[in-house]
Amino acid sequence: MKIRILTLGIVLVSFFFGFRRAAMKTKKATRPNIVFIMSDDHAYQAISAYNPALTHTPNIDRIAQNGMLFTNACVTNSICSPSRAVILTGKHSHITGKIDNNFPFDTTNITFPQILQANGYQTAMFGKLHFGNNPKGFDEFKILPGQGDYYNPDFITKKQGKQKFTGYVTDLITDFTLNWLKNERDPEKPFFLAYLHKAPHREWLPAERHFDEYLKKTFPEPETLFDNYEGRGRASKEAEMNLLTHMNWAGDSKIFPENMDKLGIKESHPYDKGNYNYVVGRMNPEQRKKWDAAYGKMNEQFIKDFPKMTERDKMKWRFQRYMQDYLGTIAAVDEGVGRVLDFLKENGLDKNTIIVYTSDQGFYLGEHGWYDKRFIFDESFKTPLLVQWNGVIRPGSRNSNMVQNLDFALTFLDAAGIKAPSDMQGESLLPIFKGNTKNFRDAAYYHYYEYPGVHMVKRHYGIVTEKYKLVHFYYDIDEWELYDRTRDKNEMKNVYNDPAYAKVREELHKKLTALRKKYKDSEELDKMYIEKYKELEGK
Ligand code: CA
Repeated sequence: MKIRILTLGIVLVSFFFGFRRAAMKTKKATRPNIVFIMSDDHAYQAISAYNPALTHTPNIDRIAQNGMLFTNACVTNSICSPSRAVILTGKHSHITGKIDNNFPFDTTNITFPQILQANGYQTAMFGKLHFGNNPKGFDEFKILPGQGDYYNPDFITKKQGKQKFTGYVTDLITDFTLNWLKNERDPEKPFFLAYLHKAPHREWLPAERHFDEYLKKTFPEPETLFDNYEGRGRASKEAEMNLLTHMNWAGDSKIFPENMDKLGIKESHPYDKGNYNYVVGRMNPEQRKKWDAAYGKMNEQFIKDFPKMTERDKMKWRFQRYMQDYLGTIAAVDEGVGRVLDFLKENGLDKNTIIVYTSDQGFYLGEHGWYDKRFIFDESFKTPLLVQWNGVIRPGSRNSNMVQNLDFALTFLDAAGIKAPSDMQGESLLPIFKGNTKNFRDAAYYHYYEYPGVHMVKRHYGIVTEKYKLVHFYYDIDEWELYDRTRDKNEMKNVYNDPAYAKVREELHKKLTALRKKYKDSEELDKMYIEKYKELEGK
């Protein structure tokens, strides 16, 4: 009898554990892989799924064709490292501590790759992190130090320290990514793979194979290229990111330093020529020969044209020159994305994989006469977001919710069936992926800090709703601006003092105060970060 009970016990216990093992196996098998593709400074206007008029990105567009295109995705702080900190932690900049490119990240904040790794995900990162720290929570990585270089770049590798690689940065990052997928991926585990491009970040050096094609192209000018900033406050007027007056002639527009001297063109910044000599100086003799041939022709033409150019002609020329190189670098990104998408598909890895394409913020492509980012205004505030997840997201769908880079961490943890830490501030996008767009945020909070600093965009915070945008510029000014997003799509007229908007203004003020409270931002914190900035500057 005793033996019988014991046998029954053993059978029951084995059955129970066997069942648990099977359940765990099923759970593991259904957890999705995540491929997170992010480029640096890639404006949504430069993806043909958003805007076919400017350029053609057939491979990036495939993600939207197979998944969802987000038409109102936006950031919380439009600048590189702070945005990356927001993405990794799911928290606003005033919590991560990485409020601008110079401030240190508060390493007590846990990142979602650390959580995924601790929960059985295999994790890898290739490309540009630009974060100041080696990535935590990654089984394998090869990342660019700081901004990294376009030609023959160094990479910080997990196993062999810093190494220099021969080739073009975008192609190298793609090669590393594909090599990991082919040879290092553990088929027993779900994976999180971060494939992070440096392009199209300044100084916009295209791959050799794209030199001639893009130097010949011309592009449609934005409506606001010749904006004079009337109708807006000091912040727009005093920003230093105008294509004509602030862009570098050598480093950005690739006028050879000796030709600048010949034509009597002064440097826009003291590092202009030095910067050009550095980035081009990294090329090997073969690469340099092709560069000199292609860009030499452009320089020759410029020497002929420059003496006859009016200021207006110069602005038009600088826009075209900017677009040729900026979009030229995106051509290689699109090819790389195509290679990775092909590999995933050919190997059945697209079946249960969330594939994301995004940027760390938006970017001005000549709108308001600007390049760069930083402002709460649409071109820099909005960011591209395309997501494919076969079997979950309906192919060819579009979404207009105000999703933010703040939401990635929670979304990925939710998709992996992991409970997120309660101090993460974003929202999971899983309901939206499944077509449920209700009960999502109706207002986004934004806060930019890097002032005084490069490009001199003043500190500001604000609230963005579907219809309006209320902004407070502070530090050395105290100006409020209000924009009607429906009537004034280009954000040309500040209506803060227009009596017709008095009620809207009052409601938005209340809503902004509530959002600041919700996210634990405050005037005390603004002051604390100003004090800290002064301390850092003083060192
Ligand atoms: Ca960036």
